[in-house]
Amino acid sequence: MSGSSSSQDCPRCGGVDTVQTYSDWRPYDQVEGFCRDCGFAWQTNARIASLAEVNEVREDWNDNLDDEETKLPILTQLAKPVEEWLKWGQEPRPEGIEEVPSEKVSG
Ligand SMILES: [Zn+2]
Repeated sequence: MSGSSSSQDCPRCGGVDTVQTYSDWRPYDQVEGFCRDCGFAWQTNARIASLAEVNEVREDWNDNLDDEETKLPILTQLAKPVEEWLKWGQEPRPEGIEEVPSEKVSG
């Protein structure tokens, strides 16, 4: 376990120390909270954006750059998840990505 637990006051019902929180930085920054009095609950909302959305973000990024050489090219496909990510069970293994035996995975 790399995460840490804590508690805090609830911004919704005013409960003192009624919210249990949990945060973790592996495999990415994420947080969650749960109020034992009013049920206010939240958690990090992870998702995989579409190719179109990714390219929109890259175009917005490029709009803020003056130097043509540092601009991001528009993608024709999204980058594939690494083996470690898939072994972590963050998402189903996509078709066409073969499982790598554990001893060959670094880290
Ligand atoms: Zn509450």
